[in-house]
Amino acid sequence: MRADGKAHRGVSYRLPIHQRLSNALSNDEFRIYYQPVVSLSTNKIVGVEALLRWEQRDPAYASPDTFIGQAEASGFIINLGDYVLRGAAEQMRRWHDRFGPRFKLAVNLSARQFAHHNLIKSIEDALRFARLAGTHLEFEITETVAMHDAEESIGIMRQLKQLGISLALDDFGTGYSSLSYLKKLPIDKLKIDKSFVRDIPSDENDLAIVSAIIAMAHSLGMTVHAEGVETQAQADFLRDCGCEYAQGFLYARALPPADFELMVEAAAAESSALEAS
Ligand code: C2E
Ligand code: CA
Ligand code: CA
Repeated sequence: MRADGKAHRGVSYRLPIHQRLSNALSNDEFRIYYQPVVSLSTNKIVGVEALLRWEQRDPAYASPDTFIGQAEASGFIINLGDYVLRGAAEQMRRWHDRFGPRFKLAVNLSARQFAHHNLIKSIEDALRFARLAGTHLEFEITETVAMHDAEESIGIMRQLKQLGISLALDDFGTGYSSLSYLKKLPIDKLKIDKSFVRDIPSDENDLAIVSAIIAMAHSLGMTVHAEGVETQAQADFLRDCGCEYAQGFLYARALPPADFELMVEAAAAESSALEAS
């Protein structure tokens, strides 16, 4: 053991990833952060997306894109997904008790979770335990997951909808979408991928793609949510095109629960000051 205590970490990195993730879960190294979702018409917070963080000293291992991919490949995502769903549902219950039921909780569902035989039962258990209605929950699945074996996916989605849960297609535009299936999917919302939002309003092609996605979604009866909104010019363009929701660094990064609460309280104080003036 080195004086700086690094020997353990050196050893642990040689463990199989499944074991490392499992140790991290037992050692309480995962945190759920929350990124606000804002209504573009009212500028109010209407939801939060739960985003998982792994607190490690080495940032190279801590990126969600890396460890979520490893969890997915190793199958440990089932345990991690359960941890996120239960933790976020309980957090939402506390926020509903404190602020009223004004936010919807969005949770990401990976391919393995979506196809897992225990999916519906684990969702029902998490909702029951947190005393949360399904109508306060939204699942985000990527178009590739939704389109893979579309008939089977539609069946699972219908079961989720029967629980009152709403469904969003995440990273829309980056995966493989069959438009003939898209119209059959019981999807409530399209989330436009941040790669299309990044160069708004300067890139003519992105402007055309984004406005076409918004028009298509609306004509299919879906709402639209833009991710990766970093500037007011992007938000203004999206709102003018009729996009309903936005999420991104313009409003806030994914925050620990206490920081999200400060943001909600600050927004409430600002709007009551405006009403009083
Ligand atoms: P995602 O679902 O597309 O989540 C949005 C990602 O964009 C998040 O990255 C968020 O921090 C980042 N982001 C938000 N606003 C902005 C912005 O204005 N600009 C830029 N450049 N980025 C922004 P994060 O948290 O690193 O997560 C990466 C991916 O990891 C997520 O992408 C999701 O696919 C996956 N992930 C995270 N948490 C979970 C989870 O609990 N379960 C599952 N299955 N996947 C998760
Ligand atoms: Ca997402
Ligand atoms: Ca996304």
